[in-house]
Order: sequence, then C-alpha cells, then structure tokens
Amino acid sequence: SEFSSKVVRKKFLDYFVQEHNHKHVKSSPVVPYCDPTINFVNAGMNQFKGILIGTQQPKYRTVANSQKCIRVGGKHNDLSVVGSDGYHHTFFEMLGNWSFGEYFKAEACKLAWDLLTNVFKLPKNRLYVTYFKGDHELDLKEDVETKEIWRNLGLSNDRILPFGVKDNFWEMGLAGPCGPCTEIHYDHIGGADRAKYLNKGLHDLIEIWNVVFIEYNRLPDGTIHKLPRKHVDTGMGLERLTAVLQNKISNYDTDIFRYLFEAIYKNCRGVRRYGGSFGEKDWNDLDKSYRTMADHVRMITVSLADGMIPEENQKLRKIMRKTFLLGDNVFKQPKNFVKELTNYVVDNLGPVYPELERNISQVHRIVSYEEEVFESLRRSASKDWEILAKSNPKLSRLDIVETPNFVKAYKEVGENMPKEIHPKLAFKLYDTHGLDEETIAKLAEALNLRFNPDDLIDELQSVKIKSKRASVRVENGLYSTLFNDGIPKTDDRSKYSYSRSIDGKYK
Ligand code: ATP
Ligand code: MG
Ligand code: MG
Ligand code: MG
Repeated sequence: SEFSSKVVRKKFLDYFVQEHNHKHVKSSPVVPYCDPTINFVNAGMNQFKGILIGTQQPKYRTVANSQKCIRVGGKHNDLSVVGSDGYHHTFFEMLGNWSFGEYFKAEACKLAWDLLTNVFKLPKNRLYVTYFKGDHELDLKEDVETKEIWRNLGLSNDRILPFGVKDNFWEMGLAGPCGPCTEIHYDHIGGADRAKYLNKGLHDLIEIWNVVFIEYNRLPDGTIHKLPRKHVDTGMGLERLTAVLQNKISNYDTDIFRYLFEAIYKNCRGVRRYGGSFGEKDWNDLDKSYRTMADHVRMITVSLADGMIPEENQKLRKIMRKTFLLGDNVFKQPKNFVKELTNYVVDNLGPVYPELERNISQVHRIVSYEEEVFESLRRSASKDWEILAKSNPKLSRLDIVETPNFVKAYKEVGENMPKEIHPKLAFKLYDTHGLDEETIAKLAEALNLRFNPDDLIDELQSVKIKSKRASVRVENGLYSTLFNDGIPKTDDRSKYSYSRSIDGKYK
C-alpha cells in the first residue's frame, strides 16, 4: 500500500516541521520525568507539562513530535482491552503538534483538517468531529467557538457533535493541565446515520486525533484554575492513522505488527499463523494471544530500553510475567522467547528511537533476569500453592501472576494457615510484591480470608511509607551493574524520584 507506518510518521512531522515552522522535539523516555502523578508517560504533552502550566518557559513556541506512550494504570488505562480490540495498545506512538501561547483554536483545527484531508487525502465523508458541550458541575460553558470553526472549515452540522467531560475535556491525570478538546473520528464503513455511534466503542468508527485547548490547571485538591496563557496540545495515534491509510480496520493488520506475528510464528513450532479474528469463541483465543504477545513485547522493550526497572515499577513487572506465561502456556516457549522477540522490536523501531539500539543488551539482561526470578518463584511457590489450592478450589481461578507472590510473602511473614490476611501480610504483598489493594482483596475472597483494606492503610501509615522513597533494590548485584552500563545521560536515573503515597499512587 502507499503509506507504510514509516511514511505516515514522516509525513506528519514534515507537515509541521518543514511546512509550518514547528520545531521537532524528540520523544522523551517513557519513564515519567520528575512527575509523581503517573506511572508511565501517557501522552505527547507530558514532557511539556511545565510549559503548559506556566512554570517553565518554552524554548520554541510551536513544536511537533512522535512520542512513545504507555497507557497502563492511572486515568488512561487501556490494559484490560489490549488484545480484545484492534485499536488500544499498552504502548503506542502519539503524533502531536503544540502551540505554546502562539496559535489557538482556529489555526489548530485548520492545520489538522488540512493535513488529514489534503496531505493524507482522507475522504471528508468518513470524518466526524466532536466538541465540548460544557459542564455544570465544573462551571464550564459549551465550546461554541470550536463548533463555528468547524462550520467555517466546511463541515455540515451533522458531522459536528457535542460531548461531555468524559470524551471532550482532556486531562492528563488527576491533576495537571487540562481543557476542552475537539476530536476527529474516522468511519471505516461509511454511510448515513453513523453519527449516533460516535464514542460508543465501535471498532470501525474510531477516534484518531485529539486537539486539546489547554486553558486550565487542575490542582491535586480537585479545583480548576484558569492559566495565564492558552496552549494547543494535540495527539494522534500513529497505529490508528496507519490502519486508516492502509485500509485496515484493525491496527494489527498493518506493518506495525505484521513482522512481529511472523516472528512469533517463526520462533515457535506447531502453532498456526495469526488469523486476524476477534471475538469470544475459543478459536479466536490464539489470535488474541498473538495480539497480546506482540503488544506486550513492544511495551516491555521500550520500557526497559528507557531505563525502567521492573523492581520499581510493579505494573511493568506484572506485564512481563503475564508475557512469560503467555509464551510458555500458549506458544509453548518456556524460555528466552520474549527476549528473542525484543530483537525484532528493536530492528523495527530502532531507526526511529535509537535508544532502543543503544540499550538492547540492557533489555536482554533484564528480561532474562526477570524470567529467571519468575520461574524460580513459580517453582518454589508451587508446592505451597498446591496445598493451599487443595483446601480451596476457587484458587485455581486466580491469576497465576499474583499467586506465587502471595505464597512467598505468606511464608516470609511466617504465618500459619491464616484466617485472615492480617495487616503485616497485606503490607508485605503491597510493598515488596507490588500487589495492589484490589488484587489482595481478590486473593482474600478466593481464600476465604478476612481482609480489611483500612488495616492496610493504617499499616502503611505506621511504617511511614509516605516519606519513603522507593529505592532500587540490588539483587545479586544485577541492577547495580545495569546502571553503570550504558544508560544514556538524558535518561539519567538519578533524576527520577519516586515515592509512594499511602493510597498507592506515586507521589
Ligand atoms: P479512546 O477514546 O479511543 O480510548 P482517548 O480519548 O483515550 O482514545 P486521547 O487521550 O485523546 O485518547 O489520546 C490521543 C490519541 O491517541 C487518540 O485520539 C488515539 O488516536 C490515540 N490513542 C489513545 N489511546 C490509545 C491506545 N491505547 N492505543 C493506541 N492509540 C491510542
Ligand atoms: Mg482512552
Ligand atoms: Mg476518547
Ligand atoms: Mg481522546
């Protein structure tokens, strides 16, 4: 087809950088930079947050980039649908352009519309736009200005639809820069009477571009304050745009994923090729596993190359463990499968993000290390687990990623057969093994154990975890050697400061 993902990315950046005087800014690492409100960088604007809220001066007034993003945990969490749908990934690339106090609504809409319809030549009768209809509680008015802008760009009323806070008031997290947005949606099918399905979760009528008008800052106490300057912040998923341009409804049918499916197929014998089917039926399961595998391997490779440490980020560790299990159970590859697949990701994305190539040995080392730790944990825990499982059939339904941790923590705390998950055990599960409150509650229910979440909060408070900064644990000297080993200066880990607050969020 005419547009490879590489060409799509380049055309987007060329449009803003060559033709419209934007400065190209590199993707930041996916590790949040001194930002305790998120676990992963989840949007292109993260690295510009200081500029948007006015604490930092912009070096350039208009910029564009393609940003590595991960949406696991926090306000934007897509993990639960990954594999089941064709357009939400844990890791994806967000194409974006920004105006820091320079152009605003009219120019931003015009640029987006021109790029999509004149450069990428998307048919106008497949495009819809949405705008913010206002909100009583937040005391925000309907964004009639934006509606008028789209009218002036030639769209008819039936293609301009109002939505509320959930879809058209964008926020990075619980606190931070925010504002009304206008979004462009693409209809893969076409035809009349489709507008009513917008934002209803249809896989063939999807949002492709979000244009946010940053005018406010939300403080941690929930209040919203007007910013001194107005900014434009946009984001478009490369995978979705590429799918549209390659006439595919699923992102997984584009060149962004095809090579990985081939690699998975090639590296395991006796498993059929990816078939591209979706749904609940058994015969779809393998396709879903293919998608999850490919998605997670991309996410793992990018996270590790950017210097993220599973020991510090338990969400990453959980995803790694799920991926190891998937490799073992579905693809029958108990060892080194994930590691092998990371090579393909580096080959594919390395030319765009050279840090992947620079840090490939680090990616390999951590994957191998984590695989070994998980394997031995599973082995040592399985005996104890068997005994526990015999006492309660519900246990077999539990998430295998969590259960070895439970058994290990249980032994470490030195309990007898418990009647409750007492606060000390809960704390161990939470602090050392990274299980969140919800998972602990799930375990407790299956085991018929009493568990009071308030006790956990009390326990956390009593050990003053609030002021404790999560530090890197040096296990077998492994992590300490990793640090001295080629993490580039811009990814300097000493600058990342995390500490966990009592509600489990990073502060
Ligand atoms: P959706 O409503 O489809 O979940 P969103 O409103 O959460 O998307 P935004 O926060 O507006 O997404 O992000 C900007 C753009 O990034 C979206 O328009 C979409 O193209 C892309 N995008 C968002 N989440 C994902 C994801 N999980 N995987 C791939 N692309 C994504
Ligand atoms: Mg979303
Ligand atoms: Mg949306
Ligand atoms: Mg959106």
